[in-house]
Amino acid sequence: MREPRIGILALQGNYAEHQEVLDRLGVESRLVQHAREFESLGGLILPGGESTTMLKLLIEESLMNPVAAFHEDGGALYGTCAGAILLARKATSPSQATLSLLDISIERNGYGRQAQSHIAREPCQSLGTPPLEMVFIRAPIIRAVGKDVEVLAHHRGDPVFVRQGRVMATTFHPELSGDDRVHSFFAKQVLASSPAQSLISAAGRHRRLATSFDGTT
Ligand code: GLN
Repeated sequence: MREPRIGILALQGNYAEHQEVLDRLGVESRLVQHAREFESLGGLILPGGESTTMLKLLIEESLMNPVAAFHEDGGALYGTCAGAILLARKATSPSQATLSLLDISIERNGYGRQAQSHIAREPCQSLGTPPLEMVFIRAPIIRAVGKDVEVLAHHRGDPVFVRQGRVMATTFHPELSGDDRVHSFFAKQVLASSPAQSLISAAGRHRRLATSFDGTT
């Protein structure tokens, strides 16, 4: 049975920063490196970093099938940047294997060498006001989305925050912006697809999580 605890894939990249955000929100989390550690998790974050390296490590550690099985079994997934590349149906430029759990086609390093990193502020209706700060680091661009994919935010006309069922992805890094609303949103998703158990370690924290992403507080 899945529980509302969130795992963070800790093979490479920004996993520690994601854990800091979940700690701030009072959401229970665990760094995972092996398939057996998926047990009792309700959600899994695939962090940003370098997708080719992460893919190589996922294959070496025989984790591709366990991640797919985790999703099949009701687990929620969230990929940031390189994590979004791993979740996509298709990754290009150059192309590489993916988990194919999210119906998007994504172009690696889509903003080119000139714009390795930039910060933007864009509206996101699902998260309310103020607009979301988006940190892009050698970010990919989502070039196509399937009909079942919801686009939750855009930047320069391209989707940058998408969701399909229990799988969501951002091409930017909310864990680097100090704005915890995207993680709150994911934690809600995990709660919704997990049995009703305590995700939050204290009632006051629960209140904070419940109100922090809908823009009403
Ligand atoms: N450019 C990286 C890749 O292709 C992703 C960058 C990131 O995760 N910040 O894997």
